[in-house]
Order: sequence, then structure tokens, then C-alpha cells
Amino acid sequence: MQAFFTQMGEKAFRTSQVLKWIYQVGVHNFDEMTNLSKALRTRLKESAELKVPEMVREQISKDGTCKWLFQLDGGNCIETVLIPEKERGTLCISSQVGCALDCSFCCTAQQGFNRNLTVSEIIGQVWWVYHHLNSERGKIRPITNVVLMGMGEPLLNLNNVVSAMNLMMDDLCFGLSKRRITLSTAGVVPALDRFTEMSDVSLAISLHATTDEIRDTLVPINKKYPLESLMAACKRYITKLPGRSITFEYVMINGVNDLPEHARQLVKLLRGIPSKINLIPFNPFPGTDYICSTPEAIEQFRQILMAAGFITMTRKPRGEDIDAACGQLAGQVKDRTKRNTVTIAS
Ligand code: SAH
Repeated sequence: MQAFFTQMGEKAFRTSQVLKWIYQVGVHNFDEMTNLSKALRTRLKESAELKVPEMVREQISKDGTCKWLFQLDGGNCIETVLIPEKERGTLCISSQVGCALDCSFCCTAQQGFNRNLTVSEIIGQVWWVYHHLNSERGKIRPITNVVLMGMGEPLLNLNNVVSAMNLMMDDLCFGLSKRRITLSTAGVVPALDRFTEMSDVSLAISLHATTDEIRDTLVPINKKYPLESLMAACKRYITKLPGRSITFEYVMINGVNDLPEHARQLVKLLRGIPSKINLIPFNPFPGTDYICSTPEAIEQFRQILMAAGFITMTRKPRGEDIDAACGQLAGQVKDRTKRNTVTIAS
């Protein structure tokens, strides 16, 4: 934006003025930016656009979870979820229209892949919810955390995701701390290394299995980047950011990956990596053959991990009545055929 203003022959401080209007005040019309001259406002209207996400459906769960459907171009839609808790409000945002990774237990995968979201479409989800909540002040918890755990694989849209996360952290915008933003990935190893160089937000890995054989069927990108290479990349992240830990997500699927021996393998796999483990009860969706592990199996699994010294939480499903729970985000993908056209390599 600074380059944009310089090119217009304007002073650099216009950048902070405009950023504050957009992100902090929530203005989306140049005419309302009253500390800019009328002439500058006119020039801005001629050369720039403030495009606000179009919210087309709001659903509120009986547990307070909110889900919004945003309409993008050409019939594509994405979903964004707010999970209010006592101490925090976590916003779960999308990074792509659909997803190309085809994980067998994930509803978004069924939608196929259409395209990457732009920086404005990613930050726009935070912008919309932030100012929507401001207008309903007191009724819903404000955003304290952002997780890239909605639709899409954020590491396959790395540049746009990093730019949007930098805006979230900027004091002129939302001023969120790096520890309160979490990027979650299925493990695209070369992109994970680039992310480690580019950003220092928190990292979550969708692990879900302890052997390549099982992981290949659940998270097919594992065939390209097997567990050994993924764990090595995790160690490089920790080496770059000493003192931090990685959250490992592990979906609990009955009879597939939930046996006590899998928990013991997990202990071995994570040895040497400061880890937190999130067990996610599998959320079913139409057409899936998987079923969720029993509460007893999940608790037994958790106890083995806890006994080995790992902080292990079982994630409570939220927003089930509005299909807003983990892995249930469907959105609306117009052209689903593009899965094979993306380069998953790096
Ligand atoms: N592609 C990224 C971001 C999506 S995050 C990633 O894989 O991490 C979505 C999280 O929900 C991931 O941990 C994913 O594995 C999990 N998930 C997907 N489908 C699920 C389902 N049906 N039940 C429970 N968790 C699921």
C-alpha cells in the first residue's frame, strides 16, 4: 500500500491512515475517510476498490458457535466459523475454495478444488466477523485467536496466507499476537520449510496416523512426503523457534487409528519434539464409511499419551447441529474439476 501511495505522489503516512480506517474503524467507503482530502478520496475511488466479503448465510448453533457462508466470484462460496468459549473467541478461516489434498475422512475434500483465496478474501473473513461482532457488542465474544483450519490447505497458498496473517498481526490492523494465530497443515514438507523461514505464527500438524501405511490412506499427501520427512521438517521449525511447541491433531476413527498400539507409536514418533496433542473425535458427514472411536477408546488413547508426558486434549465437537464441527465445512465449489491441475509439489 505504501508503494501504491508513493506511486500516486502521496506521503507514506497515508498508508497508516487508510489501514486504520479499514481495519480498526471498519470503513469500506473512501468518502468516510474524513482525514483525507476530498481530492485524494476522489483519486482513490478512481484507482482502487474496497471490496467487502458478501455474507449470504448465517447459522448459529445452540452451543453459540457461528458459521457464515461468504459468496465469492462465480458461485464459489467459503465458510468461516467462530467458536466462542469462556476465555476466548476462536475464528476458523478458510484459505482455498475446496481442497486438493483429498483426505479420505474430510468433508471439504469431497468438494474438490477450485482456486486459492486472495489475500483480501482471507483477511476479509476476519474483517467481516470482527466488525460484525463490534456491531453486536456484548452479545458474542470478540475474536482472540485465528486458526487456519477451515477449508483448504494453507501451505498450498502460502504467499497469500502469510500476507494475510501479517495483516492480522499488524498494530494498524487487528494486532493479534503471533502465538494466537495457528496455521494447520496436512504436511506439505517443502512449503512447511518455506513457512518456517517466512513466519513465526503457531503451527499445527494434521498427523492422524503413526505409520505410513495408515497415513497414506487417510492423508494421501503422505505418499509424497512420508512421516519421516514430515517429522524432520517439524524439528526444523522447533530449531528455528526454540521455546515453542507444535500442536498435533489426531482424528479418532474407530478401528482405523485408535488402538493402544497406535498411541504407543505416537509417543515414539513425537519424542524430542515439544508437542501438544489434540484428539479430534471423527465428525461424520453424508457418504462416509468411517465412524467415530468410542469415548472409551479415546480416553484410553489419551491416558497412554498423558502417561508418557504429553499434554493431550480431546477436542469437544462444537456447532454439530449446524455442520460447523471440524472437517464439516463444505462451502460451495462451482467447478470441482481442478484438483488435478494444481501442483502439489511445492
Ligand atoms: N488442510 C489443513 C487445514 C484444514 S484443518 C490441515 O489438514 O490441517 C481441518 C482440521 O480438521 C484438520 O486437522 C483435519 O484433519 C480435521 N478434520 C477434517 N475432517 C474431519 C472430520 N471429518 N472429523 C474431524 N476432524 C476432521
